[in-house]
Amino acid sequence: MIKLSGRMNGLEESVTLAITAKARALKAEGRDIIGFGAGEPDFDTPQNIKEAAIKAINGGQTKYTPVGGINELKDAIINKFRKDNNLAYSREEIIVSCGGKHSIFNLFQAILDPGDEVIIPAPYWVSYPVMVALGGGTPRIVNTSEAEGFRMSLKAFKESITPNAKAVVINSPSNPTGAAYTADELKAIAEVALKNNLLIVSDEIYEKLAYDGFKTTSIASVSDEVKRSTVVLNGVSKTYSMTGWRIGYAAGPKEIVKAMTNIQSQSTSNPASISQWAAVEALNGPQESLSKMRSEFEKRRNAMVDGLNAIVGVSCFKPQGAFYVFANVSKTYGRKFKDRTIKGSVDMANYLLDEAGVAVVPGEPFGDDSFIRLSYATSMDNVVEGVKRIGKAVGELK
Ligand SMILES: *Cc1c(COP(=O)(O)O)cnc(C)c1O
Repeated sequence: MIKLSGRMNGLEESVTLAITAKARALKAEGRDIIGFGAGEPDFDTPQNIKEAAIKAINGGQTKYTPVGGINELKDAIINKFRKDNNLAYSREEIIVSCGGKHSIFNLFQAILDPGDEVIIPAPYWVSYPVMVALGGGTPRIVNTSEAEGFRMSLKAFKESITPNAKAVVINSPSNPTGAAYTADELKAIAEVALKNNLLIVSDEIYEKLAYDGFKTTSIASVSDEVKRSTVVLNGVSKTYSMTGWRIGYAAGPKEIVKAMTNIQSQSTSNPASISQWAAVEALNGPQESLSKMRSEFEKRRNAMVDGLNAIVGVSCFKPQGAFYVFANVSKTYGRKFKDRTIKGSVDMANYLLDEAGVAVVPGEPFGDDSFIRLSYATSMDNVVEGVKRIGKAVGELK
């Protein structure tokens, strides 16, 4: 038997994937399962984007490209930053990767040494702490609460900074909570980060999915000084329903982007040429499908939040963005159904799957066991029926 590397200690298949697999298996057996587990939009990739990819294939765009992306895509990204965020970048400050996730992975590989700490507000996207650890760094988790809208307070942020602190991750709107920071809050966070010489890692993948007129802001746009200390991560997966195409990107100081590109050159090389051409069309082409998707998400969010809050024992914060609701189910902990006791979020997720036929994701791997994550990237009929089933199942706990 070959011994695995020390790096693999504690790195296991995520609980999220385990529950998704169980839901899939039950569905295959013919059970009627409503899925609130999705981490991707349920809409199809818009037709104009698909056609750009077909054109790229037929036009022979099927070979290696520059590692950090074709100039046409870098220019479309530069244009997007100028238009949406009032940020000016040059081509050397942009890298295109195999999904936003890969850009973040490259970044932590490029900046971390053993002992370096990365501040991560909880609840967090499950991959951040693992990617920090794989980069040799140490995640430093800062808890936030539902009462403060899942946003990191300045006090908690300041208290988390040690002499080893190297970076802070801001994900607004957030996965899993949907919470988003206002421009003023971002400004205050940026000031503390600058004063302490921290790199700001701003994951803005849900930038375009905000509701009730909430205006998302890129923290890099606070000032030129802040921009020089920030790496912005974004991508086409969530905005254009393109998760399978694997195109994400980052913008930041050119020395960091160069290092990220070198890591990428020795691992995956360029992201798929065809997907890059599709992403050019996504960014430069018509944006109507995005506004349709956004308004559909807003209606479903409202229905889901209202429905969950009407269930005794369940409460949920109304998120400003993304397509998730993070519901507090801790009041039901300790209650029983037959001989099964709900002790935490994993038990609750398994109970809802087995007894109600609803797949949700436990909050535990996101850093807060009091909650479950429900995605409304599914039809309105499913939202209504799924919430009804949850209400019934929670009501049966004694
Ligand atoms: C989905 C997601 C990403 C990136 O997804 P890619 O498909 O790799 O671009 C990044 N951050 C968060 C928080 C996400 O939920």
